[in-house]
Amino acid sequence: MVSIHMTADLSQWATDDDILIRWLVNPDFGGSWSGVLVPMGPEHWGPESEEWVFHMQYATDDADAMQEEKVLGRMRASLGLPQDFDFTVHRISQWVMEGVISDKFRAGRVFFVGDAAHRHPPTGGLGLTSAIHDVYNLTWKLQAVLSGRPATDCWTPTRPSVNPSTRTTSTTRSRTR
Ligand SMILES: Cc1cc2nc3c(=O)[nH]c(=O)nc-3n(C[C@H](O)[C@H](O)[C@H](O)COP(=O)(O)OP(=O)(O)OC[C@H]3O[C@@H](n4cnc5c(N)ncnc54)[C@H](O)[C@@H]3O)c2cc1C
Repeated sequence: MVSIHMTADLSQWATDDDILIRWLVNPDFGGSWSGVLVPMGPEHWGPESEEWVFHMQYATDDADAMQEEKVLGRMRASLGLPQDFDFTVHRISQWVMEGVISDKFRAGRVFFVGDAAHRHPPTGGLGLTSAIHDVYNLTWKLQAVLSGRPATDCWTPTRPSVNPSTRTTSTTRSRTR
């Protein structure tokens, strides 16, 4: 995947106030993952959003994903923006969508939480939410041990936030878009 974070006035292209995430489907630009346009605010969240992120799917071995001009050219073409469209790119990031769970969640005094312990596709919004769940879960257990309760090894893969169904749900949602 390639994500472009930019400041741009897209109000004449993204005209509908009620839509948050715009999902483009175009066989010329990667089918069901042609592009996903998300407003980033910070002052407005509709068509007047000052910042945007545009996500595009690339194969992991596609060298074009690393070439800024090609990436920006594909974004312009997918959104139908003119060649001289004025925008400021803050960052272009390449990342891999995956559904993985660590086979361990602790190494001595180090505990693994969030993306270090489990990564899912963003479809469904379970990544950060389950990371917060991890930390909530870990802190009450640490507090219990620090207050003298016996230390049981309860920081295990069977916790709800790293239940394999979370990964399966996110992965299935990403495939069925
Ligand atoms: C496009 C996209 C959309 C998403 N949408 C959602 C959503 O809608 N809802 C949701 O719940 N989740 C969403 N997620 C997932 C969410 O962003 C992650 O699950 C979450 O950020 C994980 O938090 P984390 O703190 O575990 O890891 P990170 O946010 O990755 O934080 C790790 C931090 O550690 C820093 N770091 C790395 N190595 C070192 C080092 N050696 N020394 C010091 N610092 C280091 C990194 O720079 C980073 O700041 C989305 C993810 C993506 C990619």
